[in-house]
Amino acid sequence: MKIAIDGPGGAGKSCLARNLAKKLGLKYVDTGALYRTIGLAAARRGIKMDDTAGIVAMLPDVDISLDYKDGRQCVFLSDEDVSDAIRTPEISLYASAVSAIPEVREFLFDLQRTLAAKGDVVMDGRDIGTVIMPDADVKIFLYASIEDRAKRRFDELTRKGMSVTYEEVLADMKKRDSQDSGRKIAPAIPAEDAVLLDNSSFADPADTFAAAIRIINEKTGASYDDVL
Ligand code: C5P
Repeated sequence: MKIAIDGPGGAGKSCLARNLAKKLGLKYVDTGALYRTIGLAAARRGIKMDDTAGIVAMLPDVDISLDYKDGRQCVFLSDEDVSDAIRTPEISLYASAVSAIPEVREFLFDLQRTLAAKGDVVMDGRDIGTVIMPDADVKIFLYASIEDRAKRRFDELTRKGMSVTYEEVLADMKKRDSQDSGRKIAPAIPAEDAVLLDNSSFADPADTFAAAIRIINEKTGASYDDVL
């Protein structure tokens, strides 16, 4: 089984994908972490996020790999586990900027396609249903209002002890939304055969999970109700 989950930042994709992976016995691949790691590599080298030539020139020296610890995806930049370092507001903006560069998408394409080809996977990102797994059995485009998404991201960052305001998070999210959905290459738009799932009104991740299981049942003709 292959499940593709796409949608804007802060919609709850990773929470849903993690739950589906756990309950359905699938591997979870968070593709945003890969773009974030390229962003982190650029930031650490002091390359500005609008310096496309500098970012492209850096790529041959970037070594990214994924590993799993207790079912949790960890991303490595060379030998360093950068899973936490990539979760800052600065790196979110870097990730969005580098992901609009065709050479960056090309650079990450093979790794994602290899993971997708193995099957029994749930991948989340922006172009999973359109580019990485066009043959996915189920495609869900998860979205929510920008205010709900910014609030969710604000809560997540403050819980981690980061000093940010809701207004800053909202402004960053607006910028990322317009960059991600407006870019020429692999824009964050639903695949034609994706099911749109509005996560604004689902306060409880269990409700989102149940809605996703209903979609999976409908699309595959199977019944996964026993995991609810
Ligand atoms: O999902 P996450 O917020 O971690 O993604 C970080 C950034 O990586 C997004 O803003 C988006 O620009 C980019 N991305 C992408 N394609 C993907 C996954 C993420 O362009 N499949």
